[in-house]
Amino acid sequence: MRYPIAIEKLMRLLNKLPGVGRRTAERYAFDFLLQWKDEELVDIQSLLQEIKASIKKCDVCGSLTDADNCHFCSDTTRRRDLLCIVGSCREVYAIESTKEFRGTYHVLSALLSPLDGRGEEVLELGKITNRILSSEITEVIVALDSTLEGDTTSLFLKQHLEQFPVKVSRLAFGIPVGSALEYVDGGTLARAFLGRATF
Ligand SMILES: [Zn+2]
Repeated sequence: MRYPIAIEKLMRLLNKLPGVGRRTAERYAFDFLLQWKDEELVDIQSLLQEIKASIKKCDVCGSLTDADNCHFCSDTTRRRDLLCIVGSCREVYAIESTKEFRGTYHVLSALLSPLDGRGEEVLELGKITNRILSSEITEVIVALDSTLEGDTTSLFLKQHLEQFPVKVSRLAFGIPVGSALEYVDGGTLARAFLGRATF
C-alpha cells in the first residue's frame, strides 16, 4: 500500500498525537483534513503559528501566557499569601476549574526522577525561594501527582521549605467522590485513613 507522499507525511504527523494510532491517523487524514475547505486549513495553519509565536511561560509563575505576566499573576483580586505549586501548566486549569483556590501558582518545569537523571536542578528552587522572600506568602500548597515522582518531589519541597516561615500543606488524598468504599483500592483507603479530617 502506497499513499501519496504528502498524505503519508500527514499521517505520520497525526500519528505523533497521543491516542492516535495508524488507523486513526488515516481516518483523520482522509475523512477530515482532506475534506476541509481551504480557508479552514489556512485558519489552523495561522493559528498554530500564532500560538507558537505568542505563547510563552510567565516570568513569575511559569504558567502559559501571551503577555508579560499571566492572567493569574496580574489578577489583583487573588490572594497573595497563598502559593500553590503544581507540576504542569495544565494542572493550573484543573485547579481553577474547582473554583476553590484563589491564590497564586508556581509551575514546576519537571518533577524529580532519579531514575531518569532528573535531580533537584529541574525544580529551580531559587525561583520558589525568591518568591517566598519577596512576597507576603504565608502558606505553600504542594499539589503534585500521587506518583513516585510526585511523592519524591513533594517530600523534597517540604524539606526545602522548612527553612522559611511559611506553612507547607499538601492536597489531601482519599476516596474519590461518588465511589463506594468496597471498590476503593487499599493504598487509597489507607491514605484516606491517614488524612482523615474532623467534620
Ligand atoms: Zn504568572
